[in-house]
Amino acid sequence: MAAVETHIEHILQLPAGTTWREYAACTGRTKLFFPPKAERPQARERREALARMLCTACPVQAPCRDFARAHHEYGFWGGESEEDRHLAGFTVAAPIGVRARAAASSATPRPSDAAASPDAA
Ligand code: SF4
Repeated sequence: MAAVETHIEHILQLPAGTTWREYAACTGRTKLFFPPKAERPQARERREALARMLCTACPVQAPCRDFARAHHEYGFWGGESEEDRHLAGFTVAAPIGVRARAAASSATPRPSDAAASPDAA
């Protein structure tokens, strides 16, 4: 991965010996970019909207996004949520939005559930 980071830093023309991380606009804002335990969907939307605003103004958004995609990172990186990366084809093990939809759909009985039920016979 060092080769990728070196390539990105060459494109950005960062000063020698520095990395894109040193120019991150989110330094010290960890709570804005990673969810607390049991975060409600509405709170996540608000938190990620604020994170997205910060990313939009960040000078290293592209290498940050590329890094998160390449490493299947959790949290909000480079203007993308876990679900955004999932939809772009860079899936993390269990993206938050996908988990939430799976939980919601499993709570709703489906016709196939009734057919498979012993009570359906
Ligand atoms: S793009 Fe966003 S997450 Fe990435 S370094 Fe910048 S502010 Fe942080």
